Amino acid sequence: MSFAIPEDTAAVVAALEARGFEAYLVGGCVRDMLLGIRPDDWDVCTDATPEQVKLTFEGHRILETGVRHGTVTVFYGAARVEVTTFRIDGPYSDNRRPDAVTFVRDLRADLSRRDFTVNAIAYRPQGELIDCFGGRRDLSDKIIRCVGTPVARFREDALRILRALRFASTLGFTIDGDTLSAALECRALLKAVAPERVSSELGKLLLGTGAAEALSLGVGAIETVIPEISEMVGFEQHNPYHDKDVWEHTLTALASAPRDLVVRLALLLHDVAKPRCYTNLDGVGHFHGHPAEGAGMARKILNRLRFGSATVKAVAELIYHHDNRIRADAKNIKRWLGALGERRLRLLIAVQRADSCGHSPYMRGERLAELDAASALLDVIAESRPCVTLRELEINGGDLIAAGAEQGPAVGAALRLLLELVIDGELPNERDALLLRASGILSAQKNETV
Ligand code: ATP
Ligand code: MG
Repeated sequence: MSFAIPEDTAAVVAALEARGFEAYLVGGCVRDMLLGIRPDDWDVCTDATPEQVKLTFEGHRILETGVRHGTVTVFYGAARVEVTTFRIDGPYSDNRRPDAVTFVRDLRADLSRRDFTVNAIAYRPQGELIDCFGGRRDLSDKIIRCVGTPVARFREDALRILRALRFASTLGFTIDGDTLSAALECRALLKAVAPERVSSELGKLLLGTGAAEALSLGVGAIETVIPEISEMVGFEQHNPYHDKDVWEHTLTALASAPRDLVVRLALLLHDVAKPRCYTNLDGVGHFHGHPAEGAGMARKILNRLRFGSATVKAVAELIYHHDNRIRADAKNIKRWLGALGERRLRLLIAVQRADSCGHSPYMRGERLAELDAASALLDVIAESRPCVTLRELEINGGDLIAAGAEQGPAVGAALRLLLELVIDGELPNERDALLLRASGILSAQKNETV
């Protein structure tokens, strides 16, 4: 075991054992420790019933996370541990949680309900590993394999299809042949899985280092949860900027992206509208309007999957702008800053970089160099906190009206013109200078309308 168990977590196991119960660390935390990765969360399984668990930790903060399903969350010192009674699951007829669970006395039965061999290893902090299904061998061979008969396990809970792809992506593992073919055979069952569960696994899959490989391996399952993706698969582009079909290009772009959910979702869907926008002029393919159309499609897809509204909005915005050139000159960068804000602009540059990495060599180097230059310029400009929005202008509409301007659209137009002048460096963002220029602009506007 190449990762130390935090003291307070070990103490939870010890407290249960001191009362005569069996207790083991189990699942993802054992898998991760064996891989030398710091676990995100700690799960303990035990033969104590939820009531007995609660009694054991009387005086500690406890959350009855899913008592009916046997889970109690225990807060013990610095530790937060999910303690679950050994159980086997009934059918998942709502595709969220098993309808009923049966508490059982023995660890092996509990391990047998778990999804993959690498997730079905239990560990006692004294040093004993219980590995009934060959999980350690699969960890060292880097294989995701179902516990039991794959088709039966995917029929019980089709989310496991996406979990297999997720673990392949995050751990960089392959999927055992029988497990993969069963996953693809059962993929239609994913349609009935709750969208929140799908998006949670899809998000984790996208953030893995092997996301592109996993998406490629499981494209059949991915198409089931996002049918629009099937339009991209095999769609040839007939364009000098591209030497791959739309889906292969998407995967190459994703493989070059930073680990950011919004960036990766945007890349997954940035060209989703290309097939619908395709025209062919003299043998060259064009995709006019695909960024705007794609932003709309992405919004629908991600809302359907119940991604959070901030995520949906950000992804749609990045897709909308993914083909708009970010020239490396100061005025242009400031306009982009005003339109998107610094954080979002950096994400857009990341999207465009990854997108370019998926292009054919034609003009790719030039495009990447321009993005690097834009990014370097952004670093400098952002540091100086320039005025790039009306909000940051040292005067507002009220100031103009107080100085004698008539309320109406002319005030807004004057402010926008002042902002342009400030962005272009032709006017300082100072009250007196702005007011002086404003009176000139407003009287010119008045003369124009007379
Ligand atoms: P991570 O927490 O890193 O996302 P994990 O493997 O711990 O990965 P959890 O969702 O926390 O995943 O689940 C904890 C354990 O519960 C898993 O390791 C697995 O043993 C079991 N498990 C979770 N979901 C399922 C499922 N749908 N079917 C069968 N077993 C599952
Ligand atoms: Mg976990």
